[in-house]
Amino acid sequence: MQGKCAIVTGAARGIGLALTDVLLESDWRVAMADIDGDELHDAAAARDGVLAIEADVSDPDDVARMIERTTAWAGRLDGLVNNAGVAHFGPLEQTSFEAWREVMSTNLDGPFLCTQAALPALKETCGAVVNIASISGLRASTLRVAYGTSKAGVIHLTKQHAAELGEFGIRVNCVCPGPVRTKLAMAVHSQAIIDAYHDAIPLNRYGTEREIAEVIAFLLSEKASYVTGQVLAADGGFESTGVGLPALRDD
Ligand code: NAD
Repeated sequence: MQGKCAIVTGAARGIGLALTDVLLESDWRVAMADIDGDELHDAAAARDGVLAIEADVSDPDDVARMIERTTAWAGRLDGLVNNAGVAHFGPLEQTSFEAWREVMSTNLDGPFLCTQAALPALKETCGAVVNIASISGLRASTLRVAYGTSKAGVIHLTKQHAAELGEFGIRVNCVCPGPVRTKLAMAVHSQAIIDAYHDAIPLNRYGTEREIAEVIAFLLSEKASYVTGQVLAADGGFESTGVGLPALRDD
């Protein structure tokens, strides 16, 4: 088989599924990995050039199997996108240790395990890794003690990996999406949170899955061949902004 191959975790829906389509349009082959077997197999059945792998990114055995199946299928691995994630929003006093561990195991253990397991194959291709963090990892806020901390960890993990893996020609970058109306976000975004995001975002809207996917695909591609260790916020301007936007809009 010819052509580049990427693993996208959390590819059954949302940002991961949009990224799968963007990569397919650029002639990548995509190993779609997800814990949700039903949704994954439905999504994969509707696409050519993909391999569906049911896997939990927080399980080392699943992760090892994911890499083996991908390299057996494609004969190579050029890209890894650590996109699988879960969200729990709640105040500290109502965040159980189980909820904390669930968020940490998928959002932070997952990228650690997947990148470590993919290393031998990525060394052969001088491949690229893109981690998906969040604007909640760039700035603290209410309700995000577990989610925001996990994503801040992903941002630093990106820099650690870029520092260590540059000598193998492996690039590691991070995308911090702003709010996107996916299943993950809509499960935790109350009306108050939706209003707060609009108030804080210069573009005054949620992003789309496709807008995030295009940024990830750029960092994965040769067009970003001298970019590593970077954190790129695809967030409608949230990260660059301070107080005052609603006052301006009221005029
Ligand atoms: P989503 O819920 O639509 O997709 C997440 C996917 O990850 C699902 O298909 C789910 O089954 C899968 N998944 C969850 N746990 C897994 C595990 N342990 N192993 C394998 N797969 C697992 O959500 P999304 O919004 O597309 O999220 C994608 C990434 O973007 C996440 O890392 C999320 O934190 C991040 N993000 C999303 C937003 C947003 O507003 N939607 C904002 C910032 C960051």
